[in-house]
Amino acid sequence: MLTIAPRCSKCGLDFAALDTGDGAIAFVVLILGAVAVTLAILTEIWFAPPFWVHVLLWVPLVVGGAILLLRPLKAWLIAQHYRRVAT
Ligand SMILES: [Zn+2]
Repeated sequence: MLTIAPRCSKCGLDFAALDTGDGAIAFVVLILGAVAVTLAILTEIWFAPPFWVHVLLWVPLVVGGAILLLRPLKAWLIAQHYRRVAT
């Protein structure tokens, strides 16, 4: 789970009440799963490569994509939570 700062360093907004926990990973799994499976199926149909090509392509995409997407999506979820619930 990503931990968030207890409060905003600029305005002091309390983030503890806004923590969305592991909610962002659901979006990451859905997005990356859809992208990776679609690309893997198309790659298999168009090129029919050996299995190791799929491993080389999709494992880095999914792992790297999760690392890149998790923080922005968690920040977006916290912002949505603040906008809709906390005000
Ligand atoms: Zn702030």
